[in-house]
Amino acid sequence: MHDNTYLPDHFLRHIAAIMPAHLSMDEFVASCRRPLRRSIRVNTLKISVAAFVARMQPLGWQLDPVPWCDTGFWLSREDESVPLGNTAEHLSGLFYIQEASSMLPVTALFACEQTRRDGMLLDAAAAPGSKTTQIAALMDNQGMLVANEYSSSRLKVLSANLQRCGVTNVGMTHFDAKVFGQWLPETFDAILLDAPCSGEGTVRKDEDALRNWSIESIDEIAAVQQGLLESAFHALKPGGVLVYSTCTLSLQENQAVCQSLQDKFGDAFSFDSLADLFPAAEKACTPEGYLHVWPQIFDSEGFFVARLRKQHSVPNTMFKPGKLGKFPFLPLPAKESEPMLREIEAAFGVVPQGNLFGRSEEIWLFPQLFEQVQGKLRFDRIGLKLAETFKKGYRLTHEWALAYGDGASKGFVELDIADAREFMMGRDVWPEQEAAGTGEVIVRYQGHTLGMGKWVGSRVKNALPRELVRDNNLFV
Ligand code: SAM
Repeated sequence: MHDNTYLPDHFLRHIAAIMPAHLSMDEFVASCRRPLRRSIRVNTLKISVAAFVARMQPLGWQLDPVPWCDTGFWLSREDESVPLGNTAEHLSGLFYIQEASSMLPVTALFACEQTRRDGMLLDAAAAPGSKTTQIAALMDNQGMLVANEYSSSRLKVLSANLQRCGVTNVGMTHFDAKVFGQWLPETFDAILLDAPCSGEGTVRKDEDALRNWSIESIDEIAAVQQGLLESAFHALKPGGVLVYSTCTLSLQENQAVCQSLQDKFGDAFSFDSLADLFPAAEKACTPEGYLHVWPQIFDSEGFFVARLRKQHSVPNTMFKPGKLGKFPFLPLPAKESEPMLREIEAAFGVVPQGNLFGRSEEIWLFPQLFEQVQGKLRFDRIGLKLAETFKKGYRLTHEWALAYGDGASKGFVELDIADAREFMMGRDVWPEQEAAGTGEVIVRYQGHTLGMGKWVGSRVKNALPRELVRDNNLFV
């Protein structure tokens, strides 16, 4: 029980006035004070759900399926001494720690045939990346996903999560998401706007979430949300699908934001009913067909999800192309890219997918559809940095290893648990069970990649990026 959860009276009065008649305020308050059940999502870019369950059950992990997400599970562990984030499986990107109700928006986005995995998609407010990584997994790294985030510090966390999870089809941007309707009208096949919100649904995770709660701040943020939704709507292709979601409960930030779009462009789109999204979805369904997930319904965080389909274009008074600096990349000429790809295949048995671009001492692998947005938007990073070049050659990156290393059929070394821990602590290792090799080597533990190293005699020199080095409480 979280007795310290801050639930001010004026907030409770506000909620009581909007709570549907079939739900009880007492249960609402009780569930706000109950700690949240832990949940995770298996990253199918790296491992199948069946293989993950088979790997974790013997370690005492009990995994109970989340009914609205094929890859989501509530988790209880017999031994919780190692934080989830320090387990070998988390470090090698096999799962993402994600609250169960936060898996709903992406499920809704992909539960219709318009959302194609090889399309051009937008995640307009993306950090820290729980939904970006969920979308990328459902796209199987195909097509392209633009992941935008306004906050610089959160952009870094997003980047780290994409790398850990082996995501290769994302272009990251750093703008107020209002720009998408102006700069990229009718560009995206599907859009997720998981909007900034007042977070009323998150008190079970953060007992102080409502410390600064006020009606004025809700009205203020609702005005921002309306602007973001309108802009996202302009950026959506006719025939495309858009999901609007928040982790808050007030009507102002949810139903009223949807209504504001309806008031402007109601004849150009329709909201879908999400009542059939999963077997018990109707318990959270509003008369309009939105999901308004109160925390007591599924014993989760509070959430709101609405999905619309755009039927036809609307006049766009917003359109104003953005100013771009000089694009710093050039396609890598075939005489450089082909020998490099052949060498990588010869050494590791995998062929990197995508288009190779270079800038100064870096070689990048851009997503297949990148040219559709090239010259229209400034990106912070595009796809994956494959290698850094120097006078006599190149060095493959950590992020390449995290994305491609699990599929390598050669050029890797398997560590035992003691060496794997040493490696994650930034130390060199002397793997006893394997014959020494030469050159760069993918370092794996139980078949999944931890990073890159380099053979020096019988030693594997550690090439883990400094910021990923852990100093204690690692997996045992
Ligand atoms: N989708 C994320 C996930 O699942 O991990 C969570 C997104 S969170 C609800 C909203 C995000 O929007 C925050 O990271 C916040 O920094 C960002 N944000 C706030 N104002 C924004 C704006 N005007 N444009 C784009 N992003 C914004």
